Amino acid sequence: MTDKPLIAGNWKMHLNHLEAIALVQKIAFTLPEKYFNSVDVAVLPPFTDIRSVQTLIEGDKLSVTHGAQDVSAHESGAYTGEVSGAMLAKLGCSFVVVGHSERREHHGETDELVNAKVRATLANGMTPILCVGESLEVREQNAHLEHTTEQLGAALKGVSAAQAGNCVIAYEPVWAIGTGRVATPADAEEVCAALRERLSGDYGDEVARQVRVLYGGSVKSKNIGELVQQSNIDGALVGGASLDAEEFTKLCALA
Ligand code: PEP
Repeated sequence: MTDKPLIAGNWKMHLNHLEAIALVQKIAFTLPEKYFNSVDVAVLPPFTDIRSVQTLIEGDKLSVTHGAQDVSAHESGAYTGEVSGAMLAKLGCSFVVVGHSERREHHGETDELVNAKVRATLANGMTPILCVGESLEVREQNAHLEHTTEQLGAALKGVSAAQAGNCVIAYEPVWAIGTGRVATPADAEEVCAALRERLSGDYGDEVARQVRVLYGGSVKSKNIGELVQQSNIDGALVGGASLDAEEFTKLCALA
């Protein structure tokens, strides 16, 4: 519903800091500046690359923004291996991915933890890219709308309307992530519309309109066009295709 789509590249656990610099340079210099007037482009590198990416983006005044793939729910303290929201904000992160299905699945992240991470992100002035999505089993039971809207409600528990308006929601059906099996534009639109309706019920129409709802799951340059044509899809969270500068910039230009 917003005029300017957001395309965010989730690099997952790929690329060291030198490879990260090379990729951001390629993206920024391949995509003509005029495209940045019509699409917001973000990269989400692993933690170890963020300082290098920040230095490059700020030093060269690039139009690309950056973020992180996860955040600690805690402010600071004895939490070995975790990275706080304050640390990420200090590295210039605009976005933090929260509740990605890979973290829910491989790290046992519950709705309660996802909610705490959403709050930690907002408390540090960054925008959560909150991921929700159903498994194949849930879709086959035709329970995907209930499942995803409940995930959304749980993740935003205690979040004010002003804060909710600063969130990005990513609908990522688990069966479409990294599988090459993309949801049809109509299927993606159905869920994105239901998520927006839930936001409207919880926070009012204005907030619901303000929030960018992305689709994620095997997005490529060949399918982005019809996805962003849907009225409730405001961009994409892109995994595999974000690692290839040529493909990613093509995808951004077509969004
Ligand atoms: C993702 O990791 O969020 C994702 C959507 O991956 P892919 O595009 O590879 O399916």
